[in-house]
Order: sequence, then structure tokens, then C-alpha cells
Amino acid sequence: MSRKITAKKGLEIECKGWEQEAALRMLYNNLDPEVAERPGDLVVYGGIGKAARNWESFEAIENTLRNLEKDETMLIQSGKPVAVFRTHEEAPRVLLSNSVLVPKWANWEHFNELDKKGLMMYGQMTAGSWIYIGSQGIVQGTYETFAELANQNYGGSLKGTVTLTAGLGGMGGAQPLAVTMNEGIAICVEVDETRIQKRLDTKYLDTKTDSLEEALKLAEEAREKGEALSIGLLGNAAEIHHEILKGGFKIDIVTDQTSAHDPLNGYVPEGYSLEEAAKLRESDTKEYVKLSSASMAKHVEAMLEFQQGGSVVFDYGNNIRQVAFDDGVENAFGFPGFVPAYIRPLFCEGKGPFRFAALSGDPKDIEVADRKMRELFPDNEKLLRWLDMAQEKIAFQGLPSRIAWLGYGERAKMGLALNELVASGEISAPVVIGRDHLDSGSVASPNRETESMKDGSDAVGDWAILNALVNTAAGGSWISVHHGGGVGMGYSLHAGMVVVADGTENAQRRLERVLTSDPGMGVVRHADAGYGTAVETAKKQDINIPMLKE
Ligand code: NAD
Repeated sequence: MSRKITAKKGLEIECKGWEQEAALRMLYNNLDPEVAERPGDLVVYGGIGKAARNWESFEAIENTLRNLEKDETMLIQSGKPVAVFRTHEEAPRVLLSNSVLVPKWANWEHFNELDKKGLMMYGQMTAGSWIYIGSQGIVQGTYETFAELANQNYGGSLKGTVTLTAGLGGMGGAQPLAVTMNEGIAICVEVDETRIQKRLDTKYLDTKTDSLEEALKLAEEAREKGEALSIGLLGNAAEIHHEILKGGFKIDIVTDQTSAHDPLNGYVPEGYSLEEAAKLRESDTKEYVKLSSASMAKHVEAMLEFQQGGSVVFDYGNNIRQVAFDDGVENAFGFPGFVPAYIRPLFCEGKGPFRFAALSGDPKDIEVADRKMRELFPDNEKLLRWLDMAQEKIAFQGLPSRIAWLGYGERAKMGLALNELVASGEISAPVVIGRDHLDSGSVASPNRETESMKDGSDAVGDWAILNALVNTAAGGSWISVHHGGGVGMGYSLHAGMVVVADGTENAQRRLERVLTSDPGMGVVRHADAGYGTAVETAKKQDINIPMLKE
């Protein structure tokens, strides 16, 4: 069984309240063909990141949400609804746990066995927690990352630089736009032509070619003219990168967003067409993983060689260094991850990805929200520049939505403002507010968000669990705990949060609490690890940390 799901819009609801309706609409939105990468298989993005375990579970979730009372809570175990309990009106309507394995068994082999038996699904981050909004969700983070790289290396702009990367999937598809927004040139190697086309259709990418020569020619011309340009190049990164090295073309920046975190489903080995790869994946899993890991090792060797040649090289959160290291590339961790290199200072102030979607489906609601954001934060130049670009360049996918990186204090302020706009009717229907898990206080991921922590606490998972617990206590609308998102099985624990602004007083109380505790966890986590900016933020914002060192 498979169904075609599209985002549901309009003011009429089929559930017993807007909060339940919001969960249903965001589940649908995750699977809208404009939004999801492989909706027929329930796959939203990030390798096999799914919204529900199978179509039977999907329908059971749908029906349960339609009948769910406003003082009940549905429990989801890896994409399958398993219980409804009476709780209370300010408790979450849905609690989810995705892909969580007992640590000794926390590897892909064991997960794949359980997945095959229908006992689990891979929730990635916002796939299994129903708050994916298409590539926009990651554009600002990607934009911020490249902007910081430009600040550190090129005087604030990527003008005249060429970035080489791979992977134009759900998240990776944001790279070309983020580079051109920073005035640079991007060559994005992608093995699947349909993914390249999708990014062209949604205006994330400027042009495509299947010829390396042509791609390099276009890049050089753009460099000479100082123009921004993104090029989708059909090919396999494990091969193309070495060819570029041989030819000696000057590449300034190298990163990668193939789904390296999942060697079976996320990376195509060199020499294999998509069809051949799909066949081998079915017939011989072990051989597939062996070949894809070897190709990733080759891919990382190329990245290291670019680094030796003077390029700025960084890992973009897909765990490719770990795969290469396990395959024998001893210095695979020779280039840094993007969080310690560019993002951590923001995390210390509780800054992270605040996103919202208009449940009405009306783009005007986002226009009203954008205006409000400009009004509330008139001195935040970075944010204003981002909003200008987002309004001009970002095509909505599914429900109209917006992402904006906001810090502690700012998120609660904006959330309450959205609730007031819904109450006054200036925004026509409730708004869903959430974030991805790549945030300051919601992830334990030693090869990514918590890489090289100042106090060595990279692998401490308690913080992600505390984040989910406090957001549940504070009354989020749906809260989730996940394992393995971003970097794969065994490498991360993380938590998701969504809260609905429906214009009521109930929502007002919950928004204020959740949008304070959630970024607050980011400040607390980094203050505990000894980061000065986080300690200062905690003091300035009067966050109660019992053992905070003066
Ligand atoms: P996706 O699975 O939708 O896309 C991956 C793409 O890589 C696919 O289009 C695939 O065809 C392509 N690909 C696979 N092998 C290739 C090869 N050898 N050469 C060229 N292209 C190849 O995944 P996504 O949602 O785009 O995520 C990409 C990765 O980034 C994942 O590992 C994900 O976990 C990670 N991630 C990054 C962030 C971030 O902010 N940087 C956040 C979350 C997740």
C-alpha cells in the first residue's frame, strides 16, 4: 500500500482541536511531494529518514489524531502509534521516540535487522518528528556557516571563490543557494539526476551539466566576472574529486553532504549506476557497505589532499570522516567539523534554528510574520539581511514557512508575538513553531554538535534527554527523543520540540515556557562546559544555574 499525500491547507479542521490538527497537517506536509525526497516510501530526507513506520502505521496515526481529545496524549514508538493516555490540556498531544537502541546494540547492523522485521524506523531529525519544511529548514544554518567561513577566511564574502561539495538531497540541496547568497560559486556533485532537477525546479540551483569540463569552465568564467553561480554536476564524488585534483583546478572550499551517515542507503559506490547500486543493495548488503565505505575513504582522501593544497575543508555533519577512519584513513579527522569551526559561538548564546509554518497554507501569513520579526529585532542586521534574501530567493515547499536563527529571549518574544497575531486574526490560522535538532541544547553528537567540547564532555548524552524532559514538562505540543540522526546509529542522541501558537491563553503560557526552556538548555549546556560567552549569557539573562562559577 502507498498513498499520495499533499499538504492540507485552509481553515476547516477535521480533528477535535487545532493542536491535534497541527500534528496531522505537519505529518502530511512532511510527505508532500514538494517537500519529501521519496514520499511513496514515507522517506522525507537524510537517507531513509521517515515520517511513519509503514502505511498501516501512518493511517493509524491519522485516525488517532482525528479522534484525540485535547487532554489526551498519543505515544509513537519509531513511527508506530502504540498508546493514548489521558494527561491534561497543557501537556503535549504527542510524544515520540525514534530509533532509540540500547547502547551496546546501537549500530546499523542491528537497526537494519529490526527495520526489516518492521520493529523500528529511522526518524532522522525532523522527519520522524514532523517538522521538516523542505530545504529552507537548513538554508539559513548553511548560509550562516558559509558566512562565518567567509568572515574567517575571505573578508566577509565568498566572491570569487569556488566551493566544491557533493549531495543535493533534502539538506544538501540548500548548499548551492547558501553559497550564492554569500556571493560565491558552487560546484555540487550529485549522482542522481532527479535530485539535481528538483533543486533547479525549486530555484536552489542555477544550472546543471554532466560534463566536468563544462562545470569547471562555467566556474572559472564566474570567478573571473566575480559572479555568484551554482552548478549541479552529475557524477560520483569519489571519482570526480580526484579528477579535479589531477587537473589542478583551484578549489577554495571543500565540504560534503552525501548521506554518508548511512553506508547502505545513503552513499553510492564509485563505478555503480543508481540502478546497479539499488540491485546490489538488495542482493548483498555486506558487499554494498564494503564498497560504499571504500568509496567514502577515497572521497575523504581527496578532501584531505585539497586541504594540503590550501583549500578550506570542513565536515558538514554527515559523519564521512568516521566512515573513512574506520576504513583505514588514519588522518580522516584532519579537517574539522562545522560546529566547532563556525557555529559553536552562536550556540553559546542559545542561538539556533527557530522555524514556523503557516497551517492556513496562505503565504500572506508568513509575510505578516516576517514583518513582525523585522519590527521586533530592528538592530539584528544579520537577521534582516537574511529575511531580505529569504523573501526574494526562497520558494516555499508545501506549507509556507520561515526559518530564522534566534537566541535565548528572542525565541519566546517571537513565539508570543505570533500567538498574538493569530489571536487578532492578522494571521489567518494557527502557526506551528519548532526547530530542527541541530540546535544549541538538544543534541549529543561527538562528531558534530558536541565535537571537541571545551571540557571533553562530547559523548555525554544526558543533555539531549533533559532537553526533551523539560520541554515536555513545559508543555510543548509534540516532543521527541531520537537516536542516530545526522551522523548515524551509535553516534548521536537528540531531541525535537514543536509548540503550536493557536491564539489562546493556553498556548501563550506554553509558548513562553517552552521557548525559554529550550534555548535555555543550550546556554546551560555550554556554560556547564566552561564557555565564557555562555556563562555571560546565563548571567545577563538571569538563568538559574545552581553551580555556575563566578
Ligand atoms: P539525502 O539522502 O536526501 O541526500 C543525499 C544525496 O547524496 C542524495 O541525493 C544522493 O543521491 C547523493 N549521493 C549519494 N552518494 C553520492 C556520491 N557518491 N556522489 C555524489 N552524490 C551522492 O540527505 P540530506 O537530507 O541531503 O542530508 C545529507 C547529509 O547531511 C546526511 O548525512 C544528513 O544526516 C546530514 N545532515 C546535515 C545537516 C547539516 O546541517 N549540515 C543537518 C542534518 C543532517
